[in-house]
Amino acid sequence: MVSLAFSDTSRREVVPFSPIDPANVRMYVCGPTVYDEAHIGNARPVVVFDVLFRLLRAVYGAGHVKYVRNITDIDDKIIDRAAESGESIGHLTARTTIQYHEDMAALGCLSPSVEPRATEHIAQMIAMIERLIAGGHAYAAEGHVLFDVGSFQEYGKLSGRTVDEQIAGARVEVAPYKRSPADFVLWKPSSADQPGWDSPWGRGRPGWHLECSAMSAEHLGESFDIHGGGLDLIFPHHENEIAQSCCTFGAGNPDFRMAQFWMHNGFLTVGGAKMSKSLGNFTTVRALRQKWHGEVIRLALLMTHYAAPLDLSEDRLKEAKSLLDTWHRAWQKREEGVGAKAPAYIAKLEEILGDDLNTTRAVTQLGEFSRFENINYLYWSARLLGFFTSPSPDAWFKWAPPEAEASSDEIEIKKLIDARISARQARNFAEADRIRDELLAQSIVLEDGPGGTTWRRA
Ligand code: AMP
Ligand code: ZN
Repeated sequence: MVSLAFSDTSRREVVPFSPIDPANVRMYVCGPTVYDEAHIGNARPVVVFDVLFRLLRAVYGAGHVKYVRNITDIDDKIIDRAAESGESIGHLTARTTIQYHEDMAALGCLSPSVEPRATEHIAQMIAMIERLIAGGHAYAAEGHVLFDVGSFQEYGKLSGRTVDEQIAGARVEVAPYKRSPADFVLWKPSSADQPGWDSPWGRGRPGWHLECSAMSAEHLGESFDIHGGGLDLIFPHHENEIAQSCCTFGAGNPDFRMAQFWMHNGFLTVGGAKMSKSLGNFTTVRALRQKWHGEVIRLALLMTHYAAPLDLSEDRLKEAKSLLDTWHRAWQKREEGVGAKAPAYIAKLEEILGDDLNTTRAVTQLGEFSRFENINYLYWSARLLGFFTSPSPDAWFKWAPPEAEASSDEIEIKKLIDARISARQARNFAEADRIRDELLAQSIVLEDGPGGTTWRRA
């Protein structure tokens, strides 16, 4: 078996990788907060960890790798955006999630094994908070529950920050109910018009950091192999995840580790500055997809090593397009000659990717295969990296950008379901029934259950 080694943020070096259980290799990557379209910076971790997922599947077997990437569907950014636009929270998060799935699929990313939603794990979060309070790591104050940073000796180890730097870096609110300004929120109160859940501390909602600790434990277990995300998540998000999980699950065990490896992708930059919503210097994945095939965008992202900063210029996209054209021409010449997949065809790529996911060298290697028309090596190595998804090389050369933004009928269905819920809340049952019939006429059946309304095609 090929040997793997990855850079681990907490040890600050490249370390040989061996999974806790090779029959169940487990990876968690922080997913999107669904209030807005994904920009190309948001896509970078998705593409990078998709390559890692594919590599692990190739090495350990597809059935032996579990990849969890969450959806944060409760967050102040979501509440604020919905209040500004008038769109319901349910519609906003459903619509954004659908767009996200479409965008990431277009970039050749596999779906994760599990995609848990924060709002479906509130009970697990409340249970964690109760354990943290019982263990002396958290305290309730004025409807909030805070994590007591001083109670966890290891706090700051991942990011290497001192307490003062932590306070400055987190830009945390100094609030009267906090024992220390570095303490962070596990639970906060919701007003009547904000979404909330009943809890021992009153009606409220969870803090963002807690969501990932609860969902990773639920789906991967208390300790797992790899935790990933962008560089900006090291502090405070991942530092806080570690504090919560270690104090809940590893209390009294100095050897407990939430994840064996912490891996972080570098920033996608614009003229040297991080691409971000707040700076307004972003390009959405959707906008790029109007001009470039998803594989072009994917290759442009993978030509630079994941840990390094990357400026995604027009020239870079052109270069990626021209490389892909060359590879597809080689495939076209020998289209009939592609043989069945064999381990030998991807061994070289596994070795290269096993060296801290060196996609830059992998791209060079594909160039070599195409130059010498080693078609089986080229084809299966390209597939391993998530390329050659077109049904044929011909289809690649005929690709045209999608006409206009496709209107998703799922969004329309969600909209109608929301309207029906509002009608029922207003006791306008005639309108609620009319909506149900309207959907039924389109062969959409609604089912009301204790967890809300779901739909299926008849
Ligand atoms: P957010 O929606 O801001 O929480 O970001 C979702 C994911 O995208 C996180 O893993 C971030 O670290 C990552 N991310 C956001 N902006 C960038 C960027 N400019 N470059 C690389 N990764 C980013
Ligand atoms: Zn997270």
